[in-house]
Amino acid sequence: MNEPAYWQEPIMKVRNVTKRYGKGCYQCDELTGPAFGSNICPVCGSIVACSNLSFDLYHGEILGIVGESGSGKSTFVKMLYFDEQATSGQVYLDCYDGMQENILTLNNQKKRWIRNHLMGMVYQHPHLGLRLDFSSGGNIAEKLLTADLYHVGKIRERAKELLKKTEIPLARMDDLPKYFSGGMQQRVQISKALANEPPILLLDEVTTGLDVSVQAKVLDLIREIQRELHVAMIVISHDFSVIKMLTQRTIVMKNGRIVEEGLTDQIIEDPQHEYSQLLINSML
Ligand code: ADP
Ligand code: MG
Repeated sequence: MNEPAYWQEPIMKVRNVTKRYGKGCYQCDELTGPAFGSNICPVCGSIVACSNLSFDLYHGEILGIVGESGSGKSTFVKMLYFDEQATSGQVYLDCYDGMQENILTLNNQKKRWIRNHLMGMVYQHPHLGLRLDFSSGGNIAEKLLTADLYHVGKIRERAKELLKKTEIPLARMDDLPKYFSGGMQQRVQISKALANEPPILLLDEVTTGLDVSVQAKVLDLIREIQRELHVAMIVISHDFSVIKMLTQRTIVMKNGRIVEEGLTDQIIEDPQHEYSQLLINSML
């Protein structure tokens, strides 16, 4: 594949990011992980949800993170979006300050700014990303307000544009997402996440639980967004077929660790880690 030039520089660098639930001890990292088949420290009982995750995300690419339930995928993106505080580690953003400061240790005001201006998040459960009893237009407006757009007419125009892009009929703009189907709720969530034109989009199991035909439409939409807007995305799924459809590069996680990383096609053709082989076999 011929990669466009914007692909060659990282937009985000992740270094040794760790999240422990519990008090932690000096053996937590040594006594958990794929070799033990567990993320629970036998000494102190803490859960090591993510341990020393390091990788780069490139401008405009779609990076996949795949792994079974409980491998630490959601915890990781929640740390990026500041929903959860990392125990340790560094994340640097090119689009914020040219990779100068570790964003995980910025003050809350700066974190909020990054979240509102540079990132979009789509959660597995629509109720986490949407106010289900606010109109879909209102949900988008809320995101635009946090990104400092206050002109009512412009907000409404932008909301219309976004709903059109995600194929929500404009007649439904003032309806409440709680009356929408699952696929439509996810498309409203995607509209909201794109509202502030973020250079980075985080998608956590967006199609899990949707019917196959609805799933295909949402996946198409995600691909189209990447083609048109060149947003860098992290796509999380427990399902390798979703990862295969969307991503160029993939990280495989198990028990809070990265066990394999590489080009998606290569991992599918020739998985190095036995756990990746297992995931791929379950797809075929
Ligand atoms: P995934 O998204 O890959 O299914 P998660 O990131 O949700 O995995 O969870 C990783 C591990 O962290 C799991 O063992 C889970 O039980 C644990 N975990 C997640 N959130 C919490 C929490 N708030 N408190 C304690 N443990 C948690
Ligand atoms: Mg999850």
